[in-house]
Amino acid sequence: MTRRHSFIKPKVDVLALSRQALTTKMEVDILIGLRIVEHLGRDQPTKNSTNHPKEDEILQILNWISLCIVSDSPSPYCDVAVAISAQPGNVTIHISSGSGSPSQHEHENIALFIDTLRCAFLNDLGPSLIVRDFLGMLAHRALPQIIQKIRAVQKVEGGGPEYTYKRFYSLVCAWLHHRPEGEISKGFVDLAVELTRREDQATNVMVQSFFDLLSYNIEDTQRTTPQEKYQHMVSAMASCDLLVSSTFFDDVINRDKPYRLSLEITDLLFLHELIRRLSQIACYQSGLEEFVDRGVPYLKHVLGCDGMENFKQGTGGIIVNWINTHVPQNTIKTRYWPISPSDKIGQVLATENLEVDHLNPEMREYICQTEVVTGAWMQGEAITPKVHCELQLLLYLEERFIDVNGDAIGTSAPMCWACHCYIKKRNSRKWRISQTSGKARDDWCLPPGRPDLGAAVLRSLNKKVGRVVEEYACECFP
Ligand SMILES: [Zn+2]
Repeated sequence: MTRRHSFIKPKVDVLALSRQALTTKMEVDILIGLRIVEHLGRDQPTKNSTNHPKEDEILQILNWISLCIVSDSPSPYCDVAVAISAQPGNVTIHISSGSGSPSQHEHENIALFIDTLRCAFLNDLGPSLIVRDFLGMLAHRALPQIIQKIRAVQKVEGGGPEYTYKRFYSLVCAWLHHRPEGEISKGFVDLAVELTRREDQATNVMVQSFFDLLSYNIEDTQRTTPQEKYQHMVSAMASCDLLVSSTFFDDVINRDKPYRLSLEITDLLFLHELIRRLSQIACYQSGLEEFVDRGVPYLKHVLGCDGMENFKQGTGGIIVNWINTHVPQNTIKTRYWPISPSDKIGQVLATENLEVDHLNPEMREYICQTEVVTGAWMQGEAITPKVHCELQLLLYLEERFIDVNGDAIGTSAPMCWACHCYIKKRNSRKWRISQTSGKARDDWCLPPGRPDLGAAVLRSLNKKVGRVVEEYACECFP
């Protein structure tokens, strides 16, 4: 008896399943790569990557609004992304929270932000009073974050404030050989005239400002009055703002300045990291100034009489849209480390295009068994990556064809390496985005729908992983 074989269509779409399996594998490979870079990476910026361009006005404003909203949660990666869309009479602030759903603290922060703005409009306040009120709001809500950032400046290379000051001072002295006239930035010259009535004291005033910032005693702020806290915060922000616009740092970040060319790489990296951290405090001040100078008049203009009246009455005008409530939370997945870090690093070391030929098998095995490697992750342990808030916001706006001001997305912290890479590879709408910190975050999840972009990110990441492992191997066996 012959049996007829008929082609039976499987109930499950095998192709779709294998596509899903491939995407999952890719997502896990990305997580492994990011964890290696984060854990082993000394992948320091090179001379070419230590330029420090300033954000444009609209990003300064959006970043600043994000900073006003972000929560002071102790858990890592609780950042916020913001974009603004406007039609005559109506302004929408689109917010994406890194913590998945907005926290109580974030809700309170945006409510206070809106109240402060409403109060300014109701009382028809001039720019300097609006600045004062928003500074008061920041002192009330954002002081812990600002203190944390000042602490980060104080120990920029791991040493204490005294060490940081000595290092900075000696670099300023060396700089004066290249620029005998010293500090000529408007900010410090004006301050020197105000304090000493002498323009030629600007360099001393600059050094003193940095010294004051380092002497800012954080522990004391627990005991000081709200007014003193406010004063501390305002002067710290102002000092940082002046320092990032100083002649000294300008000579550091501009590629062809003789001082920069004379710097040893370790000194350049120190100053690069220093200005990066100073900028994170300065943007509270510069962002606020931009918001009051340009943002407030713009809002008044867009709202018009009716919108303004609605806003003052609390019946519209400016509305807040937390996009997390529209985005399906199935973007959060649990994954498991499929391989041990030793085995993975062993595989990377065996890659043909890695220049670690001088290592014999024992040396390779030694590298794989170092504590740094074995402690990178635990095979089988769970990890819950998520789509970062800036990508969630970007996808939300694209899917709904929402036009936002300047095609700009602001963030409360510099963008991570993978988000930046993903947006660059995406090559869709011309998004204006914040700078990247260049740092890898190992909780990164590929947004759904574009595995080709995941593959492109993974290719770039694998190169980065190769460099990091190579450098680590050279550290172990110089
Ligand atoms: Zn990111």
